[in-house]
Amino acid sequence: MLAPYQIKKDFPILQQPHPSGKPLIYLDSAATTQKPQEVIDTMHHYYEKSNANVHRGIHHLGNRATLTYESTRAKVQTFINAHVSRDIIFTKGTTESVNLVAYGFAAKRLQPGDEIIISAMEHHSNLIPWQMLCKRHQAHLRVIPMQEDGQLDLSQLKQMLNPKTKMLAVVHISNSLGTINPVEEIIEMAHAADVPVLVDAAQSAAYYDIDVQQMDCDFLVFSGHKVFGPTGIGVLYGKEKWLEEMDPWQFGGEMIRSVTFEETTFAEIPQKFEAGTPNIAGAAGLAAAIRYIENIGKADMQQHLQDLLQYATEQLLSINGLHIYGNAPKKSAIISFMLDFAHAHDTATILDSSGIAVRAGHHCTQPVMDFYGIPATARASFSIYNTREDIDVLAEAVENVRMIFVGTL
Ligand code: PLP
Repeated sequence: MLAPYQIKKDFPILQQPHPSGKPLIYLDSAATTQKPQEVIDTMHHYYEKSNANVHRGIHHLGNRATLTYESTRAKVQTFINAHVSRDIIFTKGTTESVNLVAYGFAAKRLQPGDEIIISAMEHHSNLIPWQMLCKRHQAHLRVIPMQEDGQLDLSQLKQMLNPKTKMLAVVHISNSLGTINPVEEIIEMAHAADVPVLVDAAQSAAYYDIDVQQMDCDFLVFSGHKVFGPTGIGVLYGKEKWLEEMDPWQFGGEMIRSVTFEETTFAEIPQKFEAGTPNIAGAAGLAAAIRYIENIGKADMQQHLQDLLQYATEQLLSINGLHIYGNAPKKSAIISFMLDFAHAHDTATILDSSGIAVRAGHHCTQPVMDFYGIPATARASFSIYNTREDIDVLAEAVENVRMIFVGTL
């Protein structure tokens, strides 16, 4: 059993009061998770004791920095059960990882008239790169439709896949609806049509077991800052055969084998994709974040999140005029809601005055908002440091919003 009160103590930022003097209740973990003390300490320690550039120095510090950086690659390999550590590329986040696959891999395979499939609930980061690529190559972007409850309609996918389909990219857990998509089933269908699949694990990597070999995805992407690690570092996993085939997208130091004025040959994977000085301190922090997750255990995390999801759903639905968007049977602890009587931005602003951080807007999923015909939702997203009491405070504060706009309880 997870002990959220104990866990909350690991996160120094959550110990400070909100400027209103009320306790700070952070319900915006889908945007970014907070960082435990050991991640902060590890990064601090790296700069204090080990800072140097990687892969270059023969000196002591250079070796320590290289060890820090490369041992994180090995850590990520086991975190997602990749076959070998060279299948792990460091990027600055999910967005950069998707762009790298779009321009380094998919672009080479795309002819005019070809198709790329995404889903109706993609984050803009896993939509716009594919849309831009399709425009550039006169290809078509096709979209797996969504049902009212926020599940994908996979009955359509079989007909959508055809010899012109060159890539499928799909989100594991929707950041605006919380839907957990059956990615293994999607991958199986795509592979039956010889279509490689990229999985956006930005919202799942922290809490759900990711086994890329079992999932059989061709690419998987996530960001350090959503797994209790630092901003500015992210991961691209790719099957070795695809990474070998893929072209580098950025050029410069660290990624070469030899250079003359006439010709350049590139380093092997993964270095081929990591031009320039990488985020070494970020890698140190990411390794600490993964250790932190492993110490707590994903099974307990999931159990806690499911408890919070169920409790929060009940509490919020008891409020008159509140609607939840995204009611898939398999859902993570992300609740998008709207009040009949208040705009989502007003709701979030009033909640902030009660010390509660929720997000309001389209959550970088404008097509999802269009699907429901709404401009925005307020989104409460929970993590391991949240408690049922946080949800009681949230429900009371939403009732207060009702008081302000409607005048009666
Ligand atoms: N995909 C999903 C599902 C997300 O939730 C996010 C961030 O909110 C992203 C992609 C983009 O991640 P980043 O901004 O870290 O690149």
